[in-house]
Amino acid sequence: PGKKVLIVYAHQEPKSFNGSLLKIAVEELSKQGCSVTVSDLYAMHFEPRATRNDIVGHLHNSEAFNYGVETWEAYKRGGLSKDLIEEQKKVQEADLLIFQFPLFWFNMPAILKGWMDRVLVQGFAYDLSKAYDGGLLQGKLSLFSFTTGGSKEKYAIRGDIRYLLWPMQHGIMHFCGVKVLEPHICYAPENVSEEKRKEMLTAWTQRLKTLWKEEPIDCSPDWYFK
Ligand code: FAD
Ligand code: ZN
Repeated sequence: PGKKVLIVYAHQEPKSFNGSLLKIAVEELSKQGCSVTVSDLYAMHFEPRATRNDIVGHLHNSEAFNYGVETWEAYKRGGLSKDLIEEQKKVQEADLLIFQFPLFWFNMPAILKGWMDRVLVQGFAYDLSKAYDGGLLQGKLSLFSFTTGGSKEKYAIRGDIRYLLWPMQHGIMHFCGVKVLEPHICYAPENVSEEKRKEMLTAWTQRLKTLWKEEPIDCSPDWYFK
């Protein structure tokens, strides 16, 4: 109760399974007394490209453009574009970040990757020697909630799905100092029975009920590759 949650949501269709998972999270967490903010990236027409347009006013070095350096400098002087400042404010205020998306090519959809690329700039999310446990977003939790096309059995044959989470959970969230809760994976909602779909939605509601009692994972190579 009183906790602040930011859900970054990447699906085009509200009637989708991802849309249903989002709706459940908003309802359940609100019911608990959390304040919930949603960044609905497609509905916002969120810009995924990391370009010159993200810097307002003069460039630090206009001879040769370096996105990392320019956004870092712009952040320090309050010169990032308005959409980025707004997302950073939402992140800053949040106790928990939930990412809700369908798996695209063993990864997050481009629009969500663009959110990571553009919002988590140096100086805001991490800094020189302030990374991993020392990252600037310490004290926050994150949770990757996603759906797949492939079945759980297929993923078990091909290899552990945890490998895919290394770049997202460790490379991004842990790097920024954010602790990681167990991912929530709904396998193949398109290819299971209506009954199974309802079961998966109920399981998400149930998990959210006790979410605040969960311990973060030990986000080290062992969790992913052992
Ligand atoms: P939907 O099709 O929206 O939902 C499935 C079904 O659930 C629908 O019939 C819908 O009506 C129904 N539903 C919605 N809400 C409810 C409700 N409340 N109760 C009951 N039923 C409901 N998959 C992989 O495994 N690996 C990949 O690498 C991968 N790469 C991809 C790359 C691209 C570019 C694309 C487009 C897809 C890829 N996929 C991959 C598949 C993708 O991950 C799945 O299509 C997606 O996760 C399915 O989720 P959805 O929300 O879009 O499902
Ligand atoms: Zn880690």
